[in-house]
Amino acid sequence: MLGLLDATPEERDYSVIGSFTAQNAKGNCVYCNHCQPCPMCIDVGMINKYYDLALAGDEMAKGHYHKLNIQADACMSCGHCESHCPFHVKQVSRMHEINQYFLKQA
Ligand code: SF4
Ligand code: SF4
Repeated sequence: MLGLLDATPEERDYSVIGSFTAQNAKGNCVYCNHCQPCPMCIDVGMINKYYDLALAGDEMAKGHYHKLNIQADACMSCGHCESHCPFHVKQVSRMHEINQYFLKQA
């Protein structure tokens, strides 16, 4: 989980996710990165967070995403993250969705 002291303001807004239980987070990415390691070195949690923030209208999050060295298009759909996610997030399809979204935003 993010350290609050070195978290950016937008990250701090999401510190509430630490109180989620597996039950109420089921199917939703909570950016915990328990699905690591990704063989393509994708920061799954960070990419999901930028996506959710962008969908909520956060323009800075879009900028942050586009500055990432490794983006959702690097996903090779191996399924490692999906099979290791404690919240049963369908991450393979979500990575595809995220890639399509940010391609349109570029
Ligand atoms: S896909 Fe699952 S394990 Fe990976 S960051 Fe999201 S909630 Fe955590
Ligand atoms: S499905 Fe994509 S994001 Fe998930 S571990 Fe494999 S390459 Fe990484």
